[in-house]
Amino acid sequence: MFREKRELRIPGPTPVPPQALRALSKPLIGHRTSDFSGILERTTQRLKWILGTEGEVYILASSGTGAMEAAVANIVSPGDRVVVVVGGKFGERWSELCKSYGAVVDEIVVEPGRAVDPDDIRKALQSGGETRAVFITQNETSTGVEHDVKAVAAIVRETPALLIVDAVSSLGAIEIKMDEWGVDIVAAGSQKALMLPPGLGVIGVSSRAWQVIEKCKSPRYYFDLIACRENLKKSTTPFTPAVGMFFALDETTSMIEEEGLEAIYRRHADMRDMIRAAARAVGLELFAEDAVASRTITAIKGDGTFDVEKLRKRLASRYGIEVAGGQEELKGVIFRIGHMGYMDRLDMVSTWAAVELALLDVGYRVSLGAGVKAAMEVMARCEY
Ligand code: PMP
Repeated sequence: MFREKRELRIPGPTPVPPQALRALSKPLIGHRTSDFSGILERTTQRLKWILGTEGEVYILASSGTGAMEAAVANIVSPGDRVVVVVGGKFGERWSELCKSYGAVVDEIVVEPGRAVDPDDIRKALQSGGETRAVFITQNETSTGVEHDVKAVAAIVRETPALLIVDAVSSLGAIEIKMDEWGVDIVAAGSQKALMLPPGLGVIGVSSRAWQVIEKCKSPRYYFDLIACRENLKKSTTPFTPAVGMFFALDETTSMIEEEGLEAIYRRHADMRDMIRAAARAVGLELFAEDAVASRTITAIKGDGTFDVEKLRKRLASRYGIEVAGGQEELKGVIFRIGHMGYMDRLDMVSTWAAVELALLDVGYRVSLGAGVKAAMEVMARCEY
């Protein structure tokens, strides 16, 4: 069945609000103009506020991985020791990136579905010699787990190591306070809670990080943060920026300002709680423990009585709802419902209604409305 209206409940891309879609259709302007400089200054300022930093923020023409690569290329010199938290696919990506740049990688492997014990980071920093940086994923999208960046930062900041955070699936949905917590670099992308299509990478850089960046021996050109810094001083970018995407970024960051960060974080926590309650009410198990459950994506386990991949296909083809599957060894084991960005609590009710219908279609014994009711009960208690 052809469906023009698709509900994206995947961890990116996510729904783009009409204001941003309209902005994307505006005629372009030259990027070396005062009009563009105004947009660059305004959006950069708003991203600084979202990141909680007085440091620098650069907006790159790349996906989130580009921002991650920029972090590694500007921090890691060949032979540097780094500590990487690996609790899923995106922790692995940090590790692979660091190895590509010649780092000696000490991985802290965390069981999927669990968060890192900050004490393990302390131990890794105390043993094994001088560490250039600790790399962590704030929200491990592949397992639906949040790592406690604040607690980890409190440990890392006591040492000369930098703390580098992948906030691709959390920025604009889960709080991060770079300066207050002591986070040195944050990498993010546009197609998640920033409510935009894919195409922009965002990187926040603390003042502490510059001492390392300036001495870093790794080759870099497109992602040279020093070039970004020198250009931004003149309110411009080293290369042609994704001009149309900036129009849309202007809109979505303005929406974020209007809603307010605290309200946004609460909305995402409420959406998480609704989906978790719904899943439990129909007898499905959750992949992540409650205490570390992601506010932007919920991983739900199949119980072996139905085909998880068939469920996903049915959700998309019949109900127009795209959810994600598990990656690699989790394929067929879990499905993941994204609840990030331009969506609200009520959307979780219809999302879950479709999940129940699709569960029934694939042969799972579900009493229709059981999960919907549980979600609504959570929603009734939400304060907003
Ligand atoms: N890190 C995390 C936590 C992610 O969720 C993703 C995208 N799913 C990425 C990195 C990679 O981002 P991109 O696909 O935009 O390069």
